[in-house]
Order: sequence, then structure tokens, then C-alpha cells
Amino acid sequence: MANLKLKNIFKIYSSFDKKNSSYQAVTNFNLDIKDGEFVVFVGPSGCGKSTTLRMIAGLEEITRGDLYIGDRLVNDIPAKDRNIAMVFQNYALYPHMSAYENIAFGLRNKLNEVPVLDKDGNEIKVVDKKAIKQLKYEIKLIKDTYYLDEKIQELLKEEKEIESKLGTGKKDPEYKANAEKAKSIKGEIKKLIAEYKKNGNAVCDEAIKEKEAQINTLTATPSIAKTKKVHLPKEEINSKTMAAAEVLGITELLKRKPREMSGGQRQRVALGRALVRNPEVFLLDEPLSNLDAKLRVSMRSEITRLHQELKTTFIYVTHDQIEAMTMGDRIVVMDKGVIQQVDTPTNLFDFPNNIFVAGFIGTPQMNFFHVKMKKEARHVEFVFEDGEKMQFSLQSMRKIADSYLDGNTHDVVLGVRGENILSSKEGIHLKVLDVENLGNETQLTLEGDKDASSSYKNINIKVPYRVSSKVGDEVSISLQPEGIHLFDKETTLSIMEAKSVIKDGKEENKF
Ligand code: ATP
Repeated sequence: MANLKLKNIFKIYSSFDKKNSSYQAVTNFNLDIKDGEFVVFVGPSGCGKSTTLRMIAGLEEITRGDLYIGDRLVNDIPAKDRNIAMVFQNYALYPHMSAYENIAFGLRNKLNEVPVLDKDGNEIKVVDKKAIKQLKYEIKLIKDTYYLDEKIQELLKEEKEIESKLGTGKKDPEYKANAEKAKSIKGEIKKLIAEYKKNGNAVCDEAIKEKEAQINTLTATPSIAKTKKVHLPKEEINSKTMAAAEVLGITELLKRKPREMSGGQRQRVALGRALVRNPEVFLLDEPLSNLDAKLRVSMRSEITRLHQELKTTFIYVTHDQIEAMTMGDRIVVMDKGVIQQVDTPTNLFDFPNNIFVAGFIGTPQMNFFHVKMKKEARHVEFVFEDGEKMQFSLQSMRKIADSYLDGNTHDVVLGVRGENILSSKEGIHLKVLDVENLGNETQLTLEGDKDASSSYKNINIKVPYRVSSKVGDEVSISLQPEGIHLFDKETTLSIMEAKSVIKDGKEENKF
């Protein structure tokens, strides 16, 4: 189990087919993932979620930024040494192997380092070659980098300063004098280095001597256990494989080849293969998108259950917002390589940070209207594009940022979900474009009639009952004030209070 830290991560793909063309797939990605957390990356196709996951896995190089798994900076650690397991959309099972063999495959190939014992069962000790190599490297470093005394360091600094002045060009009246000075400093440095190479440097010599003494001691005394690489015992492979199969409910299927299994069963085998490795982090890249709708729903709860049982960190990539909402402890919504919001499923739904998140989370999509907003006494008035006016008391709505309540008119975007739109006697007049009766609820699509503003297009209403409306019927709608979301038209950011946060021990409203 491990926590993860992604700090200022960038990914720029360079393409070799066109000159100088490169693509920034991920921009300044910052995220802390807690040990055992289930985090979902969600966003439209091409938003950079798989790229981010692949950088965590070590399958894609990080262009800039730091990635920590636990306390370890892993940017340069190869995938195989990161102790993570990845499950992909295409299960990538070996077709000629049974489910059992597929799950056990990784374990059979795994080599463990174990101490070599003598005939009395004691560990055999050997010389610590690694430590000796490190000490030799440190000596080289001293010789190459620090084998200069303060005088030389000072001269080098002076040389650098003078050279930067030379950059102003030959027209500078002081150019000649500076150039001569630089030349003389260079000569002095050369002389000093030659001298130090001949006579040595007391401090560095001392440090080198100390390290050489350590090397001598290490060479003379075997200090670490001799190890060998061995395969896991058969019994261990078997017990781990059977335990994974049990957790996934596929014990009965272990003898079957992948072609004899359904998509869901194959995906369970792929999960089993990841499970037996006992990774610190599970990475899942759209693992369910090859399955049919019904199976996806049941596998969704299987994976959630697996996470609860294992209590390991899971990072799950999907473009399906319902999958994200039902599975994640926290969801990272991405667009065009940039994080839009990181929050719990309910907070994303109730308090979207911006228009993108508001439109992406929730089915049917939130409806948006361009309106002019003005505060009057204790209420706000919204004027829609067709001139229709609606007033709501400030008390009935979520708190609006003070700067928008200054009595001036502000251009804002008003968002409202289908379930917060009611049909009423007065309000915006619309025509029924489509009726979808889903049995337990009805979704209506509405649009403005010919005279109305074109902004009323494809407005979705959702009601938890059946309605008698037909295509072509005329209806009027009103909005529930508590369901109104407001966004700045320019920045697209929410201008409403999100939720209270604790800051400096005090509860404050977050905008
Ligand atoms: P999807 O849901 O379609 O898989 P995604 O959000 O996972 O999308 P990525 O696969 O991370 O998106 O791709 C992000 C962007 O980077 C896309 O525009 C993609 O075309 C681009 N991209 C991905 N791999 C490469 C590559 N090897 N070279 C150049 N561009 C790439």
C-alpha cells in the first residue's frame, strides 16, 4: 500500500514526422493520493487521463515534474521496480494458457533474492561490492568537482562576471580592459589548477584518504549476506493463485482457456493476474469498456468490493462519468490535459467549479442559459436572452459571491439540472421536442418556439414520474432556486459558495 504525490507534472509528446511539432498532453498536474484511496481520472477522449496513468506506471516518460510513490521519487525508476500492477481495457491474456496459468504466469517468472546458506545453515558473507563502488564514485566526484580551493572558486566567479560584461560588445569603452582582465584571470586559474593537481588540496586529500581506508576495510572483510535469485516455491504460487481466484469468484473457471470465457470472466482473470503481484498501487485503464452495459454494472461493484477488501490504492481511468461517480472516493475531472476539479462524487455534482465540470457530470447534461444578473434589495433578477425575467430571493439560492451582488448588471451563465426544472403556468415558453419514457422517470427535451431566442435549444427536463406530454405540446417552465448554478461568463468559474472549509481553525465559505 502506498500514497502517491504528483507534483507539477507535464507531458509533452514530440512528434518526429513534422518538424518541431510537439503536443502538450498533460499540464501542471498536481495531486496527492492517500494510501488506500480509490481515485478516478475522468474526462472526454484525449484529455490526458491515460497519459497520466501511464506516467505513474512508468510506461511513459515524465517530461517535467516529480512523481513520488510512498516517499520514493520514482521518475527514473523503471516500471518493473515501481511495485504497481496495471489492468487494461483489452485483457491481454495469453490465449493458449488456462485462466490458472494466466494468473500464475507472473509469479512463475518472478525471481526472489534469498540468502545463500552454508551446510550449517548460516548465511555466507561476501564483500560489499556495491558500497565499494559507491565510495569509489565519491572519490571521483571529489577529484572532479571539489578539488579546488577557495581562491580558484573566487577567480571562477570573477571570470564569469567579467565574461557577462563582455557580452555588451566591442563598442563598449571598457570592452578591451575587461577582455584583458578575463584573459589574465583565465591564466591565473590555469596556473592554480596545475599547482593543485601537483600538490593536492589538504581538505580533499583528507576526505579521499578516509574513503580509501573505508574501501580497504570493506575489501578485507566480507560484510553482507551472499544472495541468489530463486523462483517462488510451487506451493506459494499455487496458494496465491487460488486465493486470487477465490476473491474474484473464478475458482470454477481456472481450467478454461480465455476463448471459453465471457468478457467479464476474462477481465476477472486479468484482475487476478494483477492481484497476485500484491502491488502497492493498482492502475486500471478503462477495464470495463469492452463489456456490455449490464456486465459493466456488475463488474463495477466487483471492483469496488475488491478495493474494499484489499484496501490498496486504486487509480481508475474512465471516460464514463457514471462509472466515475459510482466508484471513486475522489474524482479528478480533466479536460485538455488540465485538472478541472478534484472532489468527492457528491461535491462534483452539487458544487461544480466551472462550466466544464457542471456540463460533464450528471445525466442528462446540465442546461445552461446566458443571462444578465442584477441584485435588487433582497432578491436577484435574471433576464434571459428573449427578455423573460425571473426573480429569486437571495435566501432561496446558494450564496453568490459578494462582488456580483454590487447592484450592477453582470453577464453570467445560469446552469440548472433537468431535475430542478418544473413545468409551470408562467415562465419560459417552450415546445416539446422529444419524450423519453424510461418507466420510472421521464426525460423531456424542449426547445424554444420559432419566435423565441435561439438559446433555448435541447433543454432537458427529468421528472420521477410518467407524463402525458406529447411531441409538439407547449409548456412553460420555471426553475427551482436551490438548483441554480451561476458561472462567470468570461472565466467560466463558479461564482457561488461551494461548501464550507476549515481555514486557520475557522469555518469559511469556499468560492
Ligand atoms: P481516451 O479516453 O481516448 O483514451 P485519454 O484522455 O486517455 O483519451 P490520452 O491517451 O492520455 O487521452 O492522450 C492525450 C493526448 O495526447 C491526445 O490528444 C493524444 O492524441 C495525445 N497522445 C497520446 N499518445 C501520444 C503519442 N505517443 N504521441 C503524440 N501524441 C500522443
